[in-house]
Amino acid sequence: MTATADETKTKTTSTMQLPAWLTTAGVNELLSLIHRPAQAGPMIEPIAPYTEQALPSIPTSTAEDVADAVATSRKAQKAWAMIPAAHKSKTMLRFHDLLVDRQNEVIDLIQLEMGKSRVNAWQEILQVGNIARHYARKGTSYLETNKVRGVMPGLTKVREVRVAKGVVGIISPWNYPLYLGVGDVIPALIAGNTVVSKADSATALTLLWTKKLFIEAGLPADAWIIVTGAGSVVGNALIDNVDFICFTGSTATGRKVAARAGERLIGASLELGGKNPLIVRADADIEAAAVGAVTGAYANTGQMCIHIERLLVNAAVYDEFKAAFVKAVEDLDVKQSFDYDCEVGTLASADQLATVVRHVDDAVAKGAKVLTGGKRLPEVGPYAYAPTVLEGVTPEMEVYLDETFGPVVSLYRVNSDQDALELANAGNYGLSASVWSKDHTMARVLARKLRSGSVNINDSAAAAAGSIEAGMGGMGDSGLGRRHGAEGIRKYTESQTIATQSLKMPLGVPEGMEIAKFVKVGNLQMKLLKRLGLR
Ligand code: NAD
Repeated sequence: MTATADETKTKTTSTMQLPAWLTTAGVNELLSLIHRPAQAGPMIEPIAPYTEQALPSIPTSTAEDVADAVATSRKAQKAWAMIPAAHKSKTMLRFHDLLVDRQNEVIDLIQLEMGKSRVNAWQEILQVGNIARHYARKGTSYLETNKVRGVMPGLTKVREVRVAKGVVGIISPWNYPLYLGVGDVIPALIAGNTVVSKADSATALTLLWTKKLFIEAGLPADAWIIVTGAGSVVGNALIDNVDFICFTGSTATGRKVAARAGERLIGASLELGGKNPLIVRADADIEAAAVGAVTGAYANTGQMCIHIERLLVNAAVYDEFKAAFVKAVEDLDVKQSFDYDCEVGTLASADQLATVVRHVDDAVAKGAKVLTGGKRLPEVGPYAYAPTVLEGVTPEMEVYLDETFGPVVSLYRVNSDQDALELANAGNYGLSASVWSKDHTMARVLARKLRSGSVNINDSAAAAAGSIEAGMGGMGDSGLGRRHGAEGIRKYTESQTIATQSLKMPLGVPEGMEIAKFVKVGNLQMKLLKRLGLR
């Protein structure tokens, strides 16, 4: 087995103190929820980003365990699909209420495993809560049977129905372990599928805690099964067995997932990376744009697929924006705290820190200027990095179009909307973008020209991502398919057409009729339908 990044973390000698509510028995109960009948997979040794101390060791599943998980899930799906939609919805509503009541437990786990600020962890509660209530209330309406006109109007009755795919596999990353780990599970279940999820190796406890909560809410234990282990082993085995794969992660891994899914001819949705631009037009409210850009660039310590990495500012307001933005960045409080007393937490791992340092050092070596930040903050924590603003970034620098996925943003001066558009659309990503302008009409015109799955006007990212009724996903190298809204649940179904032909008028040449006459009648029928406006 080849070691991958998620297997290579080494355990330190000291062990991180767990929150008082999480006893050793509690940890063991969570770990018992991992599907691993063979009990033979290697252990994962996660570490806490705040202290580099050891977190509880996580046992992993083997490829055979994954095949067994999918077989178990397939049996459970038959029963789950028969459960009335109203019952499924009630389970989601109960889950929502339990999640809101017990939020502090999972927020502790997210922070322990991932190192983000508490407010950023709480935002995962908000997002998952909204998704649960949205699909509980609207899920079945997205899947309603569609009556359409048949080949012989009145005589051919046609219904398009939605059929669950069967067993959905979900692979998600560590950066939003609750939102991305669970947000896609909810519509899959509502659509009548069962789910097997591969937990990210760094954040398995968060996902296991959530499974326990789902069981408390009334979900049958086998309707959502969790496996753990390296992507190269357990992720691959999942794709090899399920009926649909929902993947969130890097573009490089997404390509591998797509190729493997393609071999099996199963569907895949791929939510991948981004290099998201924020455009400040000359007429923007500069103070608001600067504050919005700070939120967009540094939320989740920049480890957010839709966070802003490029600021394209009209020359007429460049200096004013730069001064307001840099000041707001310098006012940010970077801290490691299990309390709601800071905005920005730490990076999640040594790997993340290494990428951030590499991008900034490479840019500086090639002539970029650091306006603020550009350094580690060892006094805050081992993986802490100062919110950084670069100026003078050029195409030969790695940070120009490669995703950094950290608290680093580059500032560009542009002379017109057209310049901004060209720079925003440079590169192959197309996930999320932002436009700041007092002229909403012009901003929407610009938005339509941006190659981006979402565009936020006078907001950096949350307006689109938080609007659960609207689809969210990427163009180009940022992915395929959408989460949220109608597409976020329909992707988990097959569309099946059921056409019922009246016995009085079967299709095809009637017995005893000459074929030439049949064609003549057919031509007449075409003319008639055209005249009646039925075709
Ligand atoms: P990653 O691709 O390295 O890993 C994501 C998941 O895939 C992990 O659970 C990993 O174990 C698994 N995996 C690894 N190799 C695999 C393989 N060969 N087959 C199947 N699964 C495999 O990504 P990451 O570094 O953990 O996450 C950060 C990336 O995710 C960034 O690029 C970010 O932009 C992207 N992301 C995208 C979205 C979105 O909605 N578009 C959301 C969050 C993160």
